[in-house]
Amino acid sequence: MTRPPGVSLRAGLALCLCLAACAAPAGPTLIRANDPTARPGTPAIRAGEPTARPGTPEPTGTRTREPAVGPGLSPTAPPDPTPLPPRPRVVVISVDGLRPDALALARTPNIQALTQRGAFSLQAQTVFPSATLPAHAAMFTGQPPEITGVDWNDYLPERGVITGTVFLAARAAGRRAVLVAGKEKFAHFDAPGALDAYVFAPGGDQDVADRAVEQIAAGFDLLAVHLPNADYFGHLTGWMSDTYLFQLSRTDDAVGRLLAALPEDAVVILTADHGGLGVSHGRRIPEDMTIPWMIAGPGIRQNLVLTQTISVLDTADTVAYLLSLDWPADTAGRPVLEALAAPVPPALRLLFTGDINPGRCPAQVALQNNDFTLPYQAVAEVLRAADLTVGSLDGALSDLSRPSPCPTTQNLIGPARTVEGLQFAGFDVITVATNHAKDCGALGFGCEARSFLDTLRHLDAGGLRAVGGGATLAEARAPVVVERGGVRFAFLGVTEVGADTWAAEARPGTAPLSGATLEDVLADIRAARALADVVIVLPQWGVEYAETPEPRQREWARRMIEAGATLVVGNHPHMVQPLEPFPGGLAAYALGNFVFDQQPWRARQGAVLEVTFHGPILEAWRLRPVHIYNFYQPRWAEPDEAAQILARMPLLTDPATARPSPR
Ligand SMILES: [Zn+2]
Ligand SMILES: [Zn+2]
Repeated sequence: MTRPPGVSLRAGLALCLCLAACAAPAGPTLIRANDPTARPGTPAIRAGEPTARPGTPEPTGTRTREPAVGPGLSPTAPPDPTPLPPRPRVVVISVDGLRPDALALARTPNIQALTQRGAFSLQAQTVFPSATLPAHAAMFTGQPPEITGVDWNDYLPERGVITGTVFLAARAAGRRAVLVAGKEKFAHFDAPGALDAYVFAPGGDQDVADRAVEQIAAGFDLLAVHLPNADYFGHLTGWMSDTYLFQLSRTDDAVGRLLAALPEDAVVILTADHGGLGVSHGRRIPEDMTIPWMIAGPGIRQNLVLTQTISVLDTADTVAYLLSLDWPADTAGRPVLEALAAPVPPALRLLFTGDINPGRCPAQVALQNNDFTLPYQAVAEVLRAADLTVGSLDGALSDLSRPSPCPTTQNLIGPARTVEGLQFAGFDVITVATNHAKDCGALGFGCEARSFLDTLRHLDAGGLRAVGGGATLAEARAPVVVERGGVRFAFLGVTEVGADTWAAEARPGTAPLSGATLEDVLADIRAARALADVVIVLPQWGVEYAETPEPRQREWARRMIEAGATLVVGNHPHMVQPLEPFPGGLAAYALGNFVFDQQPWRARQGAVLEVTFHGPILEAWRLRPVHIYNFYQPRWAEPDEAAQILARMPLLTDPATARPSPR
């Protein structure tokens, strides 16, 4: 493969110098660093500028337009980079006080190589005041000093920690976040829950690089590295002095060591907090405000001069975009989408609820009020917002019999109109492989599976996909495959409880789960895996009112995941139970009740499991505890109760060693 001729760093540099020195912009796309139309540091002035958020279409043309070039430069067609991995890692290298126009004057082969390998701007802008801590706060939050309130530039423990950072968002998503810094004041970023490792390396760039290489070896998803020396020597002998330029070549050595230690799937962003002139910085002048911004790695366009005006603020938003983090839409930064070769696979959110009783109290309340959406009023907004919402129906949907009264029987049957509530709540997939699947109300249990077949019919008519049940055993065992964002999710429903509901070759019913049928279930998982990217098993299992899974359940979960399932989400105990991560997957043994009318306090509790996929990769999960009010309506639990519920849902093994990993 031949590398096309590139826009050289020196050519880009010529543009940059021109911007600082020329009286008028050299071309239509060029913006003077001190021009009022240049990228300002406050969000108010940016109103009306197109913004793009993860999960939303980018502004038209951002990625497709050719890089604009100045006089004397020829457009280049950047080569196709390798694709962005489904679960990228990101490194942010901040070279303190690096003026972009110093790069071509100093021996900086490693930093310059990044511009060949990636996309870059040598006229990015920092925020005012152009000082280390305010600028790094902007870099890591996407917000200017007016919003972060970080207007100081020393280590002031009494000012507390800086929140709203990408570190906090990364850790909230279960990603490992690490900061290695060469100045003590970076301790302000070490907020509770923000960093898996915070390292202050007081010995300058080489010390920072040593410590960062250690952290790279320890593993990371987001690593920020701060190299302090260029700034030190700028203050000592002046920016652009011979000493500054010579020391920059040593900083470049440190960058080279970092880059050499990185895994291949890491995306590297290299930027600076500010420049400098004379022996200081902090002003609004171009020499202080103009910084380099470079990005390179898998999925990033190569040898590309970025035409969009880049701000240091965009660093955080780009990191959040690449890592698919939950990130506020209203930050002042925006992801540098122009640098991306292809869209990042969207993050897909799936929600799983506990048991849903369509009969008894929930049915009576709905009938009395002629409103079957009532049970879901408090949670529907969240459930509907997910890409897929999955429930466990512990009863039959049939008008064969009026629902049994509240709450005196064990016979769970609800009217066909129960589907209205499930639709309102945004359910997509419902497992009917439950022990109450053949309840028939006044007709008793069984009724030749008429209520059960009604359930399948009503769900189907309502556009809901029933899984784990059918008119024959083969139908009951068949997966339901749903595609979202290009990812095919296959669901299987099975029940250990209520062998009388099991289907047979010519008998309608549920898909069985038992020691005797486990091999069949595993075969179904393997077959589903061949049809789909992700297999999710929904077992009804365990012991009613037990708060821990049985050893057999843990064994079955392990074998299901070994057979190719990524998630095993169980129900039936009416109590929440622990979760267990396995290599390649996660088991949630029981999510408690969701819409139910049982008396015990803990049976009025449950949790919605939220999992995030990035492409087919299970990336993160969290639990949203609920409390069921008035025996029919789940609402998000208040903090105290939520903490009590979560305390009963620990991980059975250390997530650090048994974390779901890419297949
Ligand atoms: Zn600085
Ligand atoms: Zn400084």
